[in-house]
Amino acid sequence: GGLRSKSSVSLFNRAMADDIARRLDMEHLLWQGMQNQEFEMYFQPQIDMQNGQICGAEALIRWHSATLGPVSPAEFIPIAEETGLIIELGKWILAEACRVTRTCLDLVDDSFRMGVNVSPVQFQDRDLPRQIARCIEQFELPADSLEVEITEGVLIDPSLDSHELLPKIKALGVHLSLDDFGTGYSSISYLQRMKFDTLKVDQSFVRDICTDSDTRVIVRSIVAMAKRLSMSVIMEGVEEQAQYELLRSFNSDRSQGYFHAKPMPEQDFLEFARTIAAE
Ligand code: C2E
Ligand code: CA
Ligand code: CA
Ligand code: CA
Repeated sequence: GGLRSKSSVSLFNRAMADDIARRLDMEHLLWQGMQNQEFEMYFQPQIDMQNGQICGAEALIRWHSATLGPVSPAEFIPIAEETGLIIELGKWILAEACRVTRTCLDLVDDSFRMGVNVSPVQFQDRDLPRQIARCIEQFELPADSLEVEITEGVLIDPSLDSHELLPKIKALGVHLSLDDFGTGYSSISYLQRMKFDTLKVDQSFVRDICTDSDTRVIVRSIVAMAKRLSMSVIMEGVEEQAQYELLRSFNSDRSQGYFHAKPMPEQDFLEFARTIAAE
């Protein structure tokens, strides 16, 4: 009847309105959070699987919202992307990551390498390669101490000039990493088009590696392929010793995950890095 469909329509509208209001709120709060410096970079160590030493880190953003409390990047990064705020935020992320990389090169290891996530939306800004160049210069970094992590979204989106910008970034000497490898639509074909230095194998593979023999075959093959293409392999989401040992037996290069450490604020990370480097 009419009544029933009427009420379900208004419920639907209410849900949509709530969703839109929340997003508008979030957009406003994000903008405010940038003015109020509510963002902080955390750092998660990466371990060289040959010698067990710390060899780098991934920079991961955190938002301590005065209004909402802690908000996960999985929730706010998509909104920062839709609204374009990620372009400004991304500049700050890059500068923070470079600043801490300088400290790590001095205090931890002069071959330290920092992974920085760069959103597809940041590729709308054709100044991105120059931005990266300026950051490297400002903090006097060897270009290869920086590893730009992109997802296949950068390569798929026809509106982005990634085929122009990626080689420019690569020409700086910065490393390029293909993130979440194996989860997209056609990751492998991108390896033909663009020379990546590093593959980051998605955590969904690592999660199943001890329990599923097909997953073991797939991961072993990914590592072998990467090696033949002269790429280095990072395993992410390593949570258990057994996963680590197995992945090491496959000749993976670097390991990142809760098994070693969670992402940490700068000071905790530096302390962690110095302790493990001194062992
Ligand atoms: P991602 O780039 O794939 O980052 C890896 C995520 O896995 C991080 O989540 C990290 O905390 C989490 N992780 C690390 N080790 C483990 C583990 O052993 N087990 C499990 N279950 N998870 C683990 P996080 O920090 O919540 O970030 C989520 C996503 O948000 C990132 O996925 C990335 O897509 C985006 N993101 C985070 N920081 C930034 C940033 O600075 N810039 C951009 N553009 N995106 C970011
Ligand atoms: Ca990443
Ligand atoms: Ca990833
Ligand atoms: Ca991801």
